[in-house]
Amino acid sequence: MSTPTATPPTATIREARLVVTAHRQREGAGFVVRRPFPTQGLALVDPFLLLDEMGPVDYAPGEAIGAPDHPHRGFETITYALAGEFEHEDSAGHRGVLRAGDVQWMTAGGGIVHSEMPSRAIQDHGGRVHGFQIWVNLPARLKLTRPRYQEVPSARLPTGQTDDGRARVTVIAGEALGARAVIDTHTPIVYQDWTLDGGADVTTPIAGDHQALVYVFGGAVRVGDAGREVRDGQLALLGPGDAVRLRGADDTTGGRLLLLAGVPLGEPVARYGPFVMNTEQELRDAIRDYQTGRMGEITRTAEVG
Ligand code: MN
Repeated sequence: MSTPTATPPTATIREARLVVTAHRQREGAGFVVRRPFPTQGLALVDPFLLLDEMGPVDYAPGEAIGAPDHPHRGFETITYALAGEFEHEDSAGHRGVLRAGDVQWMTAGGGIVHSEMPSRAIQDHGGRVHGFQIWVNLPARLKLTRPRYQEVPSARLPTGQTDDGRARVTVIAGEALGARAVIDTHTPIVYQDWTLDGGADVTTPIAGDHQALVYVFGGAVRVGDAGREVRDGQLALLGPGDAVRLRGADDTTGGRLLLLAGVPLGEPVARYGPFVMNTEQELRDAIRDYQTGRMGEITRTAEVG
C-alpha cells in the first residue's frame, strides 16, 4: 500500500516509552479540563508546556464559564474547537469566534491580555463545549516577539486518509498522508487529529529530531510495533525513531488521538502561571509589566443586538 507521504521501508518506528493518565483540573473561572501534563511526574514535553482537553461538557443555560481577561508572555496558545463556540479577544485588538473544527494559533510573544469565553449563544442557551488548548514554548530569541494570531476555519484545514479509509487525519501543523499544514509555526511543530477505525494500521513519518507524543481522547489505539495500548484520557510519550505507527485497538475498536511533535528547545524554563520565560528575573519583569499595564487591556465596545 502506498500513500503520498510513504514511509521509507527503513524507518525506525517510535515505541511508547511512558504512558500517563490525564488528571482533572479546574481552570479559568472554574471549567474542568483533562490535563495529561504538566503534572509532578511530567512537567513538560519540550517544546510543549501544557495540554488541556476542555470538556466535553454539556452546559445548561447560564452555566457556561470561560477564562476572562488574563495575561500571557513568552509562548503560544493553540486552541482547537471540537464542539461549541469559543469567543477569543485580546489586547492586541484580535477578536474571533471558533466553531467546531476551527483552530486559532495565538503567539503571545512579548505579552497580551487574553479573554477566552463561551459564545453569548452558549452562555444564554447552553450546549456542548469540547476542545483543546496546547501551549507551545518559544525559544529565547522569540520570547518577546510581536503577538500574532492565525485563525483557520475547519474548511481550510487539510485532511488525508489511508487507501483503505480506516485512518483519517486533520493536519493543523506538519504533514501526513499528503496533507500539509496551512499554519506557519515559529519552530517545527506537528499537530494532527487522527481518527482510527477498528483494523486501522498507519505509519507516518516524524523527523528524528522531534520529540513526539500521542494523546487519546476517545476509544483506544495501539502505538508502535510493540502495540502498546493507549486508552481514552491517556498520553503516550514516544521514544526515538523517525516514524509513528498507529493502529486501532483491535479489528472492531478504534480511537481518536492528537499526535504532537516538535524539536525540543533545550533551554531553561522558568514558568509562573501564564508567563513562561527562561529566568526568574524575566518572570519578575513579566509580572511587573502586566501589573503596570504594559501588556495593554482589552478594549470593549457596546455590542449591538
Ligand atoms: Mn489565554
